[in-house]
Amino acid sequence: MKQLSRRQFVMSTATVVALSPSIFLTSRSVGAADMPKVDPNDPQAKALSYVHESPSADNFCTNCQLYSSAADSAWGPCAIFPGKLVAGKGWCSAWVKKSG
Ligand code: SF4
Repeated sequence: MKQLSRRQFVMSTATVVALSPSIFLTSRSVGAADMPKVDPNDPQAKALSYVHESPSADNFCTNCQLYSSAADSAWGPCAIFPGKLVAGKGWCSAWVKKSG
């Protein structure tokens, strides 16, 4: 295995440190805000009767165990629809009461 000179080691370490913020920012920019919204006409959404406006007065995505965003958020990620956002006021047949 090739040994790095001290100069090569310092330069490679400096490069990694210099690039770290851009890697961090890039990964952050692909966050929940950039995810597409679930289309209620998507076959999986239809199979689960997903709607953007819950037909129930008590059961919403925001009080579902599978919703992973703030309770007052308009849109958020859901474990059932990975990579997509569901409406905070939405609902589907997989709804499970949030514990706690
Ligand atoms: S499982 Fe259904 S009700 Fe629960 S957050 Fe996801 S889409 Fe909303």
